[in-house]
Amino acid sequence: MEDVRNVVIIGSGCAGLTAAIYAARANLKPIVIDGYEAGGQLTLTTMVENFPGFPEGILGPELIENMRKQAQRFGAEFRAGAVTEVDLSRRPFTIIVAQESYRAQALIVAAGATAKLLGLDSEKQLMGRGVSTCATCDGFFFRGKEIAVVGGGDSAMEEANFLTKFASRVHLIHRREEFRASKIMQDRVRSNEKIRVVAPAVVEKLLDSGKGAVEAIEVRDLKSGKTSTLPLEGIFVAIGHEPNTKVFRGKLDMDANGYLITHSGSKTNVPGVFAAGDVQDHHYRQAVTAAGSGCMAALDAERFLEEPELA
Ligand code: NAP
Repeated sequence: MEDVRNVVIIGSGCAGLTAAIYAARANLKPIVIDGYEAGGQLTLTTMVENFPGFPEGILGPELIENMRKQAQRFGAEFRAGAVTEVDLSRRPFTIIVAQESYRAQALIVAAGATAKLLGLDSEKQLMGRGVSTCATCDGFFFRGKEIAVVGGGDSAMEEANFLTKFASRVHLIHRREEFRASKIMQDRVRSNEKIRVVAPAVVEKLLDSGKGAVEAIEVRDLKSGKTSTLPLEGIFVAIGHEPNTKVFRGKLDMDANGYLITHSGSKTNVPGVFAAGDVQDHHYRQAVTAAGSGCMAALDAERFLEEPELA
């Protein structure tokens, strides 16, 4: 059992690292628990062109590494591993990471959300090399190219429509004939001439002919059972996200999909516990919005530590 810390930050993506920079500069000596995917979703991307301050763009892993160094420079400490249990019933809070236990007067949850994947061979290796889970982030790289979007929910509809700004053609592949997306989003897709709906169908293979970038996909028509090869350069997997909130079930308020509910900035229902980034945002999901909310959480935690009775 370590000494009681001012702040423990769960998660080392954009939100957690920004919270760490602010908390460390405020002399709060934060500990950051890395989580399962150290660095978060940005480590799965290649070029990031929309993070302000980098006119030529910056590689996602490099951006994360820079933030980490920046936090370390001001005294943030990092611990590997993922949180297995928390006790938020009294302060100091207890945070358990496998065999280790930490105690903190304030807690910032920036554990992120994990984009669901199709589970295909090489899907992870080709991430950022034709496979993407974020149209806003990567659409620009597919100007004039043929691509696919997988999914039948609002995200898939939104991404398919958005991507027609860049792509020459978008194949929208869904495993059922019915779409769970709202009618208005479906109508937009169906009236968009650049979108071809392929349903019911599933993607069975990603083909890269050893070049390390997507060149085609194999799609099976679920009605005829026939498999065909679709040459294209990008595939956007839009089948939902899973917020990393299992350990907070029954302890922090969350919505029906498991996203943490925040109010008055980054506050959760437990005084002294704050949330930032994708763990509480299923709408914007951008690096810059995650960073912004990480900053908010650190400022809110700092204020809470100064005057907990006002929380
Ligand atoms: P979602 O509504 O859960 O839809 C996920 C889609 O992916 C479903 O069509 C599902 O198919 C499909 N899917 C899931 N696993 C799959 C797999 N392994 N292989 C192939 N397909 C798979 O997720 P979402 O679209 O990300 O939306 C999440 C929430 O955010 C929803 O409440 C949505 O309304 C909201 N949202 C709103 C907007 C907006 O209003 N502008 C935009 C985006 C998201 P099945 O249908 O067959 O299960």
